[in-house]
Amino acid sequence: MELLIRNGRVVDSATRTDETLDILIRDGKIAGVSPRIEVRAREVIDAARLVVVPGLIDMHVHLREPGYEAKETIATGSRAAAKGGFTTICAMPNTDPVNDNLRVTGQILAEAARTSPVNVLPIAAISKGSRGEELVDMVGLSEAGAVAFSDDGRPVAGSRFMKLALEAAKALGALVIDHCEDRDLSGAGVMHEGEHSRRLGLRGIPASAEEVMVARDLILARELATRVHIAHLSTAGSLLALRTAKDQGVPATAEVTPHHLLLTDAALEGRDPDFKMNPPLRSREHVEALVAAVRSGLIDVIATDHAPHTAEEKGRGLEKAPFGIVGLETAVPLLLDRLVHKKVISLGRFVELLSANPARLLGLRNKGRIAVGADADLTILNLAKLGTIDKNAFESKGRNTPFDGWKLKGRAVMTIVGGKVVYPFDYVPAAKAGGNA
Ligand SMILES: [Zn+2]
Repeated sequence: MELLIRNGRVVDSATRTDETLDILIRDGKIAGVSPRIEVRAREVIDAARLVVVPGLIDMHVHLREPGYEAKETIATGSRAAAKGGFTTICAMPNTDPVNDNLRVTGQILAEAARTSPVNVLPIAAISKGSRGEELVDMVGLSEAGAVAFSDDGRPVAGSRFMKLALEAAKALGALVIDHCEDRDLSGAGVMHEGEHSRRLGLRGIPASAEEVMVARDLILARELATRVHIAHLSTAGSLLALRTAKDQGVPATAEVTPHHLLLTDAALEGRDPDFKMNPPLRSREHVEALVAAVRSGLIDVIATDHAPHTAEEKGRGLEKAPFGIVGLETAVPLLLDRLVHKKVISLGRFVELLSANPARLLGLRNKGRIAVGADADLTILNLAKLGTIDKNAFESKGRNTPFDGWKLKGRAVMTIVGGKVVYPFDYVPAAKAGGNA
């Protein structure tokens, strides 16, 4: 099986590449990258005027299976990923049952092997049942395929327990991803605490609810000289703590979501539950600080926190609806239009945030770069393509997006996983495009 991608603008942060190149794929691996590859390949893709980047990796996705298949399944969520340009997604463990054991991890991997067009990598819970009391079998789960550990959705409340988890992960070289939220402070809040929550008469979630836990984690990581990854960082104070920790040499990292970069809490004035997520949309000062941190390099990763819910659940009104929005099919157009085209970040930085850095943090040695021997996971982008977000056209079961109707420039037009074109779904290899002999 040979596939030749011709004349694409190849952008790869790992190898600092940005030039027009051919890419040869053989047996699921990249077999050649050079300005002109003379080979009569069975299959040829003309990528002229398109951008070829290492396959995008979303390290924060809720696939909901097992247990919440009305919201999403591994099959539907992974199709949404393929369409959105992601070749690898990491599945958070807050399913039912919680992915805290080998059986659930095995079940997720088996279902993904059967139905998913993309790589699905399970993230296991930190604690049994995500109750924050007893550590999972980190060694066994790592061997079974868990790429990281997180109690996302049910934050680790106990500091002593968090320290124990970080120590165990350190011994194993595993990554702990923490959803930083002090539930004592966030309580029954539904949106960011500030001017808008007060005007709407809604209970607020203060920035401090996140910041005290980010500070705690960074202090523990410093004390233990170990890694910790902050999920969906959303406040200026969290950034300040991260900056300080990194300056001190703490190997801490953090991700932000597209929605926290593009929307403020003012959007809640319409009381639409599709703007309700956790952490909540923050005020302008926080958003500006996040954008600056994405630009400066302080932030390591952009992840979607794809969190599908049913229309019925989201239809319960702002106060009762569950937190979360979908993101797999909107992230790339949003980021290309609002960050890359507006020159907030370069394409190279986009690749770093969405492929190279997540691959490095998760220890995926053969992903996140376009080089001979690497996995042939590639995303092809059309930067000029105009489109409108249409939630009714989503592959995801979730329609809960605040971006419906947004007109955006740029999107993923082809997704290649292990040398196989998995999107467009109706792709037929060009009939012997003749190689280039
Ligand atoms: Zn979370």
